[in-house]
Amino acid sequence: MAELKDVKGIGPKALSLLNKINIYTINDLVTHYPFRYNVLQRCDLTKANDGDKITIDGKVESMPILMRFKAGLNKMNFRLVTQSGIVGVSIFNRAFMKSQLMVGTGVTVVGKFDKTKNVITANDIKLGILTNQAKIEPVYHCTNGLTNKNMSTYINMALLMYGKEIIDYIPEVYREKYNFVNKKTALNIIHNPSTKEKLKEVTIRLKYEELFAFMFKINYLKKENKKKNSGLVRTIDKNKLDKFIKKIPFKLTTDQLKAVDEIISDLESPNRMNRLLQGDVGSGKTVVAFIGMVANYLSGYQSALMAPTEILAIQHYNNLVEFLKDTDIKVALLTGSTSKKDKNEIYKELKDGTIDMIIGTHALIQDEVEYNNLGLVITDEQHRFGVHQRANLQNKGIRPDVLFMSATPIPRTYALTIFGDMDVSTIKERPKGRQKIDTFVKKNNEIKDVLQMMYNELKLGHQVYVIAPLIEENENSDLTNVNELKDQMKLAFGSKYKIDIVHGKMASGAKDIIMNQFKNNEVQILISTTVVEVGVDVPNATMIVIFDADRFGLSTLHQLRGRVGRGSSKSKCILISDSDTERLKIMEKEDDGFIISEEDFKLRGQGDLFGTKQSGDMTFNIASIKNDYKILLQAKKDSNEYLLNKETDKDDLKKVLINEIAEG
Ligand code: ADP
Ligand code: MG
Repeated sequence: MAELKDVKGIGPKALSLLNKINIYTINDLVTHYPFRYNVLQRCDLTKANDGDKITIDGKVESMPILMRFKAGLNKMNFRLVTQSGIVGVSIFNRAFMKSQLMVGTGVTVVGKFDKTKNVITANDIKLGILTNQAKIEPVYHCTNGLTNKNMSTYINMALLMYGKEIIDYIPEVYREKYNFVNKKTALNIIHNPSTKEKLKEVTIRLKYEELFAFMFKINYLKKENKKKNSGLVRTIDKNKLDKFIKKIPFKLTTDQLKAVDEIISDLESPNRMNRLLQGDVGSGKTVVAFIGMVANYLSGYQSALMAPTEILAIQHYNNLVEFLKDTDIKVALLTGSTSKKDKNEIYKELKDGTIDMIIGTHALIQDEVEYNNLGLVITDEQHRFGVHQRANLQNKGIRPDVLFMSATPIPRTYALTIFGDMDVSTIKERPKGRQKIDTFVKKNNEIKDVLQMMYNELKLGHQVYVIAPLIEENENSDLTNVNELKDQMKLAFGSKYKIDIVHGKMASGAKDIIMNQFKNNEVQILISTTVVEVGVDVPNATMIVIFDADRFGLSTLHQLRGRVGRGSSKSKCILISDSDTERLKIMEKEDDGFIISEEDFKLRGQGDLFGTKQSGDMTFNIASIKNDYKILLQAKKDSNEYLLNKETDKDDLKKVLINEIAEG
């Protein structure tokens, strides 16, 4: 297959920009789907309401009047004759367009309509008028230096040159059964839709394809796992384990005990453990995992615990060292920033069996790492790891038992589908003495109250998380946004408190430094652009303020909220949004992650799509488990049928799918 750089128009600069947003192959590029579409359809001014966002075309009726303000700011006003009347247009910072906007020029304006003044405050003006049919324009996630137009050009060029070579993951029988168009046509339409109907049709087809491939892999793993007696044979000294559990300074909850039992009997069984341990943030999954590791140790094997980020790995490591302080179990930490010298030492000791337990990041599954007798692998925050990583872990050396931990509660029916290859343990009950987090939904114009509440917490010596407003269009405006917010916070609190920012595009080292400063209370207000470090434990942080809360799914909000309420003080969560308050109010009442996620699934709001993407719950390009559950069920059924059908074993597609699992 050709490479990205072979696409006409993609030079070294464009290549590195594309890489920056995780586009590395032609397939990545053509499946970089628009995250929304602008529908340019002529509006009827007489029917538009005050404040509506409208699109309208017409002819420039008056010479634009240009005003220049300080710091390069400028504004232009002109009148526009449209089919439904004359309207004023005003637009900022388009002085450069003035010479093009001659009287009589046809233009299309997109903006907000002020009915009383009969003026549109435009955020975009395009030359040319509309046709009677709606025009659908794709909008892509871009990055600084890479415009929406560039993206569209590259994608279409790639389709033109290599469209035929792109793998279609739907076997022909199902393509025929559902009357689906071929892959190339589908891609052409999703990137250049002519009508809403066509767009809808191919969207379903591409969703089905993505879910088919995903479910095929899950079904395959499940089938492999079910092969009998494929696990380790071991005996665990229960007396020693009980003694150990007795020494834990708190009493395990009933759910924790049940999960421990399930894990122990999996370890003892000759079949391989492949278990998901799910429980709300703070429900105490870690201690359950640690007990599993001790049981594994007592039966003579090494354990590995993998966390999604370095900072979480360090946190787990410190906890584990504390947990094992009266034992002579040898624990080590391995991350991307472990020095070369230490790494080599660790590799050696893992291989010769000196190290009993290792905690780390992805570094643990690199090829150089060899274990002496790995018996148990645990991954934390499972949802960040896709099918590939799951398989990769399991393929490493001998066949260890595997436990996945997840703090994203998924209703049971969904869990069984998505994690169909796993058994599930659930911790519902929370440790005694946890306080409910007071949650309030506030409007943007109530920001003064919010600042006052923040001040009250800060005065008590507590710390605050702020999740910055999101802007989807591109990362650059995201950053301006967050910097503006920082300036505002500085104005309000800067004289007394230290404020800092973490954002998604920061190098992980730089991010960790700031996270650590926050942990040590050297920073009191931490602003972050997105869901940065879900599991981080800072008990002194007692308040979280989330801007644009309506953009997140309830489960994501619940996760974010779980960052506070970790100490003994009462904590607060503020959700700021001007819309969708009905849904957000659920958060005020409810603090059970399982109920919240049920609600979330029931509502299936569009807002979720964004939330899911941001938090990286699942790695789908176009499908959403929640919104496309019916398609998922069909894809699950079909892919299993395909998997089990021996006649298709020689299919190239089947080989491709199985290879993808193995390659990771
Ligand atoms: P999570 O499920 O989010 O990973 P943790 O395992 O980090 O939760 O537990 C959160 C905190 O609760 C930890 O400080 C842990 O020591 C404590 N904890 C866990 N189980 C119990 C319990 N049964 N009683 C009291 N505290 C507990
Ligand atoms: Mg955790």
